[in-house]
Amino acid sequence: MIVCRTRDELAAARKDLRGRVAVVMTMGALHEGHAALVDAAHEHADSVIATIFVNPLQFGANEDLAKYPRTLDDDLALLEQRGVDVVFTPTPEVVYPREPVVRVSAGPLGDVFEGASRPGHFDGVLTVVAKLLHLTRPDVAYFGQKDAQQLLLIARMVQDLNFPVEVDAVPTVRDPDGLALSSRNMYLTDDDRRASLSLSRALFAGVAEEAAGADAVRRAAHAVLDAEPSIALDYLALVDPDTLAEVPDDAVGPALLAVAARVGTTRLIDNVPISLRDR
Ligand code: AMP
Repeated sequence: MIVCRTRDELAAARKDLRGRVAVVMTMGALHEGHAALVDAAHEHADSVIATIFVNPLQFGANEDLAKYPRTLDDDLALLEQRGVDVVFTPTPEVVYPREPVVRVSAGPLGDVFEGASRPGHFDGVLTVVAKLLHLTRPDVAYFGQKDAQQLLLIARMVQDLNFPVEVDAVPTVRDPDGLALSSRNMYLTDDDRRASLSLSRALFAGVAEEAAGADAVRRAAHAVLDAEPSIALDYLALVDPDTLAEVPDDAVGPALLAVAARVGTTRLIDNVPISLRDR
């Protein structure tokens, strides 16, 4: 595995990669969710590049940029073990030699849900994803369904701006008790972790009602969240997966049930696909 810290090192390593090339972009503090992206990449490509970069541009002023977990040695060991060919782990100065004047705007889809709580977040995400796509030049890029709004916006950027890359999604990897794996789970105390299970439980309660329609899904999920006083709910929404608009009560077809809440000092997000049937 070749570890690159500069753009020149990456360009040299990229030149030697053969066949179909996949990229997996991460902020490090890697877990089995990230590993699932690498596995999916191997399945459909000949060479795999992973990036590890905590992108300052996507953190708000009062967010956890400084304390975001950094576990580079463990991350490199995991990536090596999963057969990654090239790792790009740049410093902020390598990615942003100058403050970028030109940035990617996520538009209105970047202002709702996660974007409502985190102004500018998705502009920062799309800007760094665009840069990393240009630097790694993959045929295909893998992203997790866990960050559904991010996945949607990246797919739209690639479509709307004609990036020559395929975007593929990987289902959310969970702990056996249902909690979606996240680097931020490291922040949870034992009590927080117990309370955080109400997020996935609420989503699965919603799934169990999908045959009964949108309203039943929302009510079942809300009932679980209402019973957990130690979380601060940000949103629970049942939305159209393409437009993120709330679906009407008589909706049929695919939808996304998404939740965000603060548990202790940690903000967690999760979502599940819902299939609303004609009744
Ligand atoms: P992050 O390092 O949190 O920025 O995530 C890097 C990539 O891994 C993103 O595409 C995430 O959606 C994906 N990811 C994070 N957690 C999970 C998970 N539990 N299951 C699947 N993919 C994940």
